[in-house]
This record gives sequence, structure tokens and C-alpha cells, in this order.
Amino acid sequence: MQGAPGGGVGPGLSPVDRWTLLVFSFILAAALGQMNFTGDQVLRVLAKNEKQLSLLRDLEGLKPQKVDFWRGPARPSLPVDMRVPFSELKDVKAYLGSHGLAYSVMIKDIQVLLDEEREAMAKSRRLERSTSSFSYASYHTLEEIYSWIDNFVAEHSDIVSKIRIGHSFENRSIVVLKFSTGGPQRRAIWIDTGIHSREWITHATGIWTAKKIVTEYGKDRTLTDLLNAMDIFMEIVTNPDGFAFTHSMNRLWRKNKSTRPGIFCIGVDLNRNWKSGFGGNGSNNNPCSETYRGPSPQSEPEVAAIVDFITSHGNIKALISIHSYSQMLMYPYGRSPEPVPNQKELYDLAKDAAQALYEVHGIRYIYGSISTTLYVASGITVDWAYDNGIKFSFTFELRDTGRYGFLLPASQIIPTAQETWLALRTIMEHTLNHPY
Ligand SMILES: [Zn+2]
Repeated sequence: MQGAPGGGVGPGLSPVDRWTLLVFSFILAAALGQMNFTGDQVLRVLAKNEKQLSLLRDLEGLKPQKVDFWRGPARPSLPVDMRVPFSELKDVKAYLGSHGLAYSVMIKDIQVLLDEEREAMAKSRRLERSTSSFSYASYHTLEEIYSWIDNFVAEHSDIVSKIRIGHSFENRSIVVLKFSTGGPQRRAIWIDTGIHSREWITHATGIWTAKKIVTEYGKDRTLTDLLNAMDIFMEIVTNPDGFAFTHSMNRLWRKNKSTRPGIFCIGVDLNRNWKSGFGGNGSNNNPCSETYRGPSPQSEPEVAAIVDFITSHGNIKALISIHSYSQMLMYPYGRSPEPVPNQKELYDLAKDAAQALYEVHGIRYIYGSISTTLYVASGITVDWAYDNGIKFSFTFELRDTGRYGFLLPASQIIPTAQETWLALRTIMEHTLNHPY
């Protein structure tokens, strides 16, 4: 949605017209209202074996668009979290029970968390307006983030600039922040957040990180050395249409918003739309699936914009794509368990980065290759980056492990960003010191 239609009732209208208009606008407002998740729950299943995992996978087929996996069936050691609408709870719980799948309720009523989140945002927005300041400890809308970007670039124009790399399906600008102390086409590091729009902690972490980069330059030795030799690019809102939609209509939207003639369901999973391994295991050809890969590689403008930018830049040495949730740090491949040539180096670096992260607030991340740590996923960002010569390609799954899932309270933004920074800094330092 690009904003609800406004406008008052004109003075020249007859009472009947006024009444019709009022009723019409009421219906429209209701139709444009936020999706309500009252009574929806997030259930957690700890599958004991492969057979139980496949029973869980079958649920997606049995209840398409009903069961929304927050943590998909991966391996027996990892929990499976799924959002079940109130109307389906009885059926799904019966299915689980009849197959001997034990579950626990992680979130009893999703709407309660959504109401709290909205209230916290409104409160913070009032405070920000009265003090003319930006709160790094709050979640923000797309408009708020885009206006923060403009102010940020204006305030730090010596080191930061904004580049428009393309337009989304609904024609919103796709923008990248460039941190640079000079020199054309320097070696560079790419960081993206928010490719899945409901993962709000990632955008918030990106914003805090951007601010951290400008404040640490000239103070922190590692970052200063890095920026004296290399550039950093950050795409904070990688899926702007999806993100706008999470605010206007459906807080739990993951895909982009592209539509195609004759196809009823909306959106492509932008983290299945990359050329590398496109269409392989762990991606879906059903447009109604949350992991729908799209009709062809890079069919989505949000992905094509990054491909064009990184390819034409030609000197990106590290790529870090940030998701939530699960607390993981991973590297290629997603598409198969085949180890990458520098697997040992990536493993050791992930281990060091996870350790640096742990030392900040005692939060544990697991690490390893995507296919062996999480699950097989094809057509993903970091596989594409690796196949295109970016040796240091990583993906994060930020906090938490499922207590709040995608609805992580804003009080955890700063701690999450602080610890993530230490991991990012570890990867950036290694990239600086290991030129190739
Ligand atoms: Zn994600």
C-alpha cells in the first residue's frame, strides 16, 4: 500500500452523498486495516528424527498459507517453530498429536506482542518528535528510515554518501550507503539487511551499525585502518516494498510484492531468486509458498539491482547478508553440503566472530556452512556472492532463538547491534588483512 486515500467530505455534497461517502470510507479503512493475528500461536516442535521432520514438512502441503514456518524443518537437533492461525489451531494440534509430535507453545497470542510493538513505536515517535532526535533503540517505518538516511548522509557527508542502485517492483528507490575516505573502486565490503521484510531487528541493527561506523572512524584502530584502505557499502532496506507492507498491512510479510498476470499469490522470496543454484533443493516453485523462487534467476528488481551493482563495481571482497532469527553465523554453500575451497578459513573466521560476539553479552551463536548448520537452500545471496569471486561471504541469523522470534522487543535492538558489531568487525578486519 502506498498510503490510504485521504480527503474530507466536500461541503457541496448532499446528505445522501455524504452518508454514502462515509460508509464507503469506513469500509475502505477496514479493508486497508492491519491484518489481525488475535489468537494465532507460534508452536515449537522438537522433531526426534527425519521421519518426524518430514511429517512437519508435509504440513506445508496440507495447509498451504496456513502454517507459516518461522524456523523451518531442518534437522532433528534444531527446533521447528510455526505460526498457526487461530482458525487452524485445533486441526494442526490434532495432526501433531496423532503423529506423536510433541509441541510447546512459544507465543500464546501473536496479537498481544504486535499491540505492544505498535504502542512502543507510537510512544517513541512522540518522543522523537518532541526532541527532534532519532532513537536507535526503536523500530521505524520505511519513510522514517529513508529520512534518517538523508539526514545521516547530510551530517556525515565527508565520509558517507547515498547511491540509488535501482527501483523496487512498486517503484520505490533502492538505496545504498557508501562509507569511503577516498579513491575510486577501492576494495570493498558489502552488508545488506532486511531482504526478508519481517526481520525488523536486521534493519534496526543496520541503522545502528551505520552510525557506529562514522563514530568509530578515527577512534577505533581496526575500523580506521579499514576505511583508510577500503570502502563499506550498506543496503539497509533491501526489500522496501515488503518492509512498507509489514507496517501498513501484514507485520509478518517475508517476500517482496511482485505480481504476475494469472498468478494469484503475491511475492517472491528474494533469498531464493539468485542465479547460483536457482531452482534447486530448498526453494519452491509454488508462487504461494513463502520460499517461492520466482519465475527465473534475478527476475526480481531488488535482486537484479544488487547483482548489477556488485558486478559492475568488481572489487567487493566480503559480503555479509543479515537475517533473523536463530543466532547463527554461516557461510556457503546453501545449495549443497559440498565444502567451499576456503572452508577451513571461513570456519575459523566464523568461530572467531562468534566468540567476539559472545563476549559482549554472553549470547551464543552456532556457526558452520549453511547446508550443514541450517538446511539446504538454493538461489541464495551468499552462494551467488561466493560463486562470483567474493571469498568472504557470510550470513547472520540474529537474535533470538524463538522466545519472540520476528517480534523481538525494541529493548533488544541495541544489545543485538552491539554484539553483532564485534562479529562484523572481526570479519572486516580479516578481509582487510587478507587481500586477494
Ligand atoms: Zn531471512
